[in-house]
This record gives sequence, structure tokens and C-alpha cells, in this order.
Amino acid sequence: MLDLNGKNALVTGIANNRSIAWGIAQQLHKAGANIGVSYLPDEKGKMEKKVAELVEPLNPSLFVPCDVQNEAQIESTFATIQEKWSKLDILIHCLAFANKEDLSGEFSHTSRSGFAKALEISTYSLIQLSGAAKPLMTEGGSIVTLTYLGGDRVVPNYNVMGVAKAGLEMSVRYLASELGSQNIRVNAISAGPIRTLASSAVGGILDMIHHVEEVAPLRRTVTQIEVGNAAAFLCSDLASGITGQVLYVDAGYQIMGM
Ligand code: NAD
Repeated sequence: MLDLNGKNALVTGIANNRSIAWGIAQQLHKAGANIGVSYLPDEKGKMEKKVAELVEPLNPSLFVPCDVQNEAQIESTFATIQEKWSKLDILIHCLAFANKEDLSGEFSHTSRSGFAKALEISTYSLIQLSGAAKPLMTEGGSIVTLTYLGGDRVVPNYNVMGVAKAGLEMSVRYLASELGSQNIRVNAISAGPIRTLASSAVGGILDMIHHVEEVAPLRRTVTQIEVGNAAAFLCSDLASGITGQVLYVDAGYQIMGM
């Protein structure tokens, strides 16, 4: 049975009710996990208020600001986990960023700063958060990140984010190899295209969604809740033998040759 009772789960990347992280948080909570939420703070505190209201029904026992570009906030997030929970079982890494101008047009025109920013936030953050989680996962653990087909194949306009996701998927393998001896499993979910704040920055995302609806075996794309169910499975003992993998939750689109 899928049972996450007694598991402490930190979920990153909730921005609004369309966020994939929101689908994951709901399904982890439904399976019995104790939820902690980190959010990207802004100057006016709008994000904090919005996310706090959204996640309230899940009774999060931890709610912390964590900009992954801010070392102090990362340290403070994991210090709070240590203090309040004493151990961490589940880390959901569900965040990414690239400048809008780097998500359309010619890939060869990606700027140096845009490349560095996309890779720092979208890829390096998994390595950093996993490193911070490692000493707290004293009873083993499960780390799940979110990737996309554009990290494995060329998808129009995905550009710099494709490179970031390729790096992310390889980081999953290196992390899985390192952390396996501590019974910490590391996996990625490659989700089909879903309309969210982040995906709306990718040029032609609606065309991509329509294409998937026509071509994917299930003749549709997926929902945040379906991705959440897969994440709950990967975080549970049902997936105890699975690590270092990329699990496609994409209505089957990835198997198609057109
Ligand atoms: P979203 O906009 O809801 O989530 C992106 C999150 O990243 C936001 O919560 C944002 O606050 C956070 N973020 C950005 N910069 C950050 C920083 N410096 N520090 C901390 N957090 C930061 O969009 P989403 O589509 O739910 O994206 C979640 C993940 O899913 C991303 O990794 C994305 O690449 C991946 N993904 C999305 C799709 C899709 O079609 N939507 C498909 C496959 C994979």
C-alpha cells in the first residue's frame, strides 16, 4: 500500500494552484506525509501570502522562504528542518528558471549570463539541496526532481532549458550513485507539457500541448495530480528498488517517433 505516514517531506516550487509542486504536495499529503513547504520570496511578500493561503489545507508543519540562489536561505531552511523535524525523508525539487528571451529563437544566441542563471537555478540547485538534505536523511530517503523531454531531445524553443534538464538528469544519476549507500534514492519525473507559470515562458507551449493531445498514445497530456501520484509512488517503499531513473509521466508521448 502506498503509505507515507511518518515521513517528513519538503516540497519546493509551489507558486500557485497550477504548479506541478502543488499537485505533488497534495498527493504526498493524501498518502499521509507530514508536509513542509519552501517558497521563492519576493520583496513585497506577495508570494509568501499567496502560497501560505494555498497550502493551508495541507497543514504544513514548516513554511520557509528559500531562494536557491541565496546560500543563507538554503542553510536556514535545512537548519529549520533539523530543529523542527530532526530528520528528513523526502525532498521534492520542483523548480526551474530561464530568461524568457532564452526560451525562443536561436539557441546559438543564448547569452552567457542567461545560460549561467538557467543552469544555476534549474540544475545546480538539485545538487546543492541534495547535499544539504543528505545529513538529515538519517533513515534513508527519496529525492525527486522534475525534468522534461527537451532535456533528451530537441524540442522547439526549449533551448537553454534543454541543456539545464540534460544536466539535471545526469545529476540524478551521479547523486543516486553517491547517496545509494545511505539508502537515499534519487529519481526524476519527466512530465508531459502542462500549462503553468514556468511553461508559459517557453515559446509555443500551447502548440506543443495540442501536438501531444493529437499524438500521445493517451491522446491527451497529463495533470499535476497525475505527476503527484507518480511522485508519491517514487517516495514510497513501493519504489524501494528504484533509483537513478527518469520516469516518463507524459501520456506516453516519449515513445512516439512523430
Ligand atoms: P511553476 O512556475 O509553477 O514552478 C516553478 C517554480 O520555480 C516556482 O514555484 C518558482 O517560484 C520556482 N523558482 C524559480 N526560481 C527559483 C529560485 N531562484 N529559488 C527557488 N525557487 C525558484 O512551473 P512548473 O511547470 O510547475 O515547474 C516546476 C518544475 O517542473 C520545473 O522544474 C519545470 O521545468 C518542470 N516541468 C514542467 C513541465 C510543464 O510543462 N509545466 C513539464 C516538465 C517539467
